[in-house]
Amino acid sequence: MQNVFVIDHPVVQTKLTELRDYSADHRIFRELLDEIAMLMTYEVTRDWPTTPRPVRTPLEATVGKVLARQVTLVPILRAGLGMADGVLRLLPEARMGHLGLRRDETTLEPIAYYHKLPPDIAETEVLLIDPMLATGGSAVAAVDFLKQAGVRSMKYVCLVAAPEGIAALHKSHPEIPIYCAAVDRQLNDKGYIMPGLGDAGDRIFGT
Ligand code: URA
Repeated sequence: MQNVFVIDHPVVQTKLTELRDYSADHRIFRELLDEIAMLMTYEVTRDWPTTPRPVRTPLEATVGKVLARQVTLVPILRAGLGMADGVLRLLPEARMGHLGLRRDETTLEPIAYYHKLPPDIAETEVLLIDPMLATGGSAVAAVDFLKQAGVRSMKYVCLVAAPEGIAALHKSHPEIPIYCAAVDRQLNDKGYIMPGLGDAGDRIFGT
């Protein structure tokens, strides 16, 4: 699949399998999601541009490399919060925006009920995070929203993607790369990803 990157590293896959297990309680689930998010970030950021920076070692002056652009992490509320700490552990200087979306009951259109973004988000590398890419409705709305805020460089990072969600996001925003740890079989008639891991928000927060 074009522009879909499945992080099939054995350590990530081991943790994902443990996370899928229905008997993992919210404490275990949170720990595993946090660890996977951190490991995935290492791969997700692999192609980011760097810029030279002079540095003085104990022995001499040299020139190293550092990330060229500031980073903004945008979790989609609420399940996206479960991945935020793991990403921030690898990118501690990242700013964090928040985006809450709900479906309008009459028009069925997703609307942003809460948003707070860094003022200069347009100049930054953005990681949009949400563990489950299911129908793709909120992913499409979130990318629409961030593009309207001027964001030019953005990656969508999830844990498990459904083929339906990938198709929907790519139909509206084909240039946005999707990173995930697995592409599962399909959605069921209630919109859950199969085999999936259940409701990520409920499992993270113990609700
Ligand atoms: N959201 C979830 O948390 N789980 C799914 O399977 C689909 C959407």
